[in-house]
Amino acid sequence: MRKITCIYCQDEKLVSEYTNREHVIPQCFGKFRPNNPVLKTVCNDCNQYFGDHIEIHLGRDTYEGIERYRHGIKSGNFPHKYPRLRFRISAGPLKGLLVKPKYSDVPNEIDINPEPMTQVGFLKMEKNEFDYFEPDEIPTASELEEAGYDIQGKKYVVAKDKGEEDRLMKMPL
Ligand SMILES: [Zn+2]
Repeated sequence: MRKITCIYCQDEKLVSEYTNREHVIPQCFGKFRPNNPVLKTVCNDCNQYFGDHIEIHLGRDTYEGIERYRHGIKSGNFPHKYPRLRFRISAGPLKGLLVKPKYSDVPNEIDINPEPMTQVGFLKMEKNEFDYFEPDEIPTASELEEAGYDIQGKKYVVAKDKGEEDRLMKMPL
């Protein structure tokens, strides 16, 4: 039986190990008519690996993944947590505030989830605007000072309850 060298792992494998279709553009981003372009030089093992790892991140934790909702390729609830992506209010008095996206009732629109995200805002003196950090991402006092934040002045805390608010008001330590 004929052998092919996989373009990723560089192993020479039997043609029978290349039976899964490797989509050049992941199927989670939509399908093309009549057929998606496919590579016939990616072994099943590598194809499975990319599907289980890279494509999941591409679909769930990227701006392009979010755009799937706007273009009707994906519907339903947004992922609960985005390890990499951050969504912020872009203008107005709440500029910079961290928010979660929410599937809109209006087709092809994305809303802001009304459930507040816990965060602390520090004044960046140079631009006179607040930058917001999630609790586990708040820099140390010296890091904030060095980066030009006013750590003595006013800060904004968004918290789920009073205990958490009190704890965050004391940060950075
Ligand atoms: Zn391979």
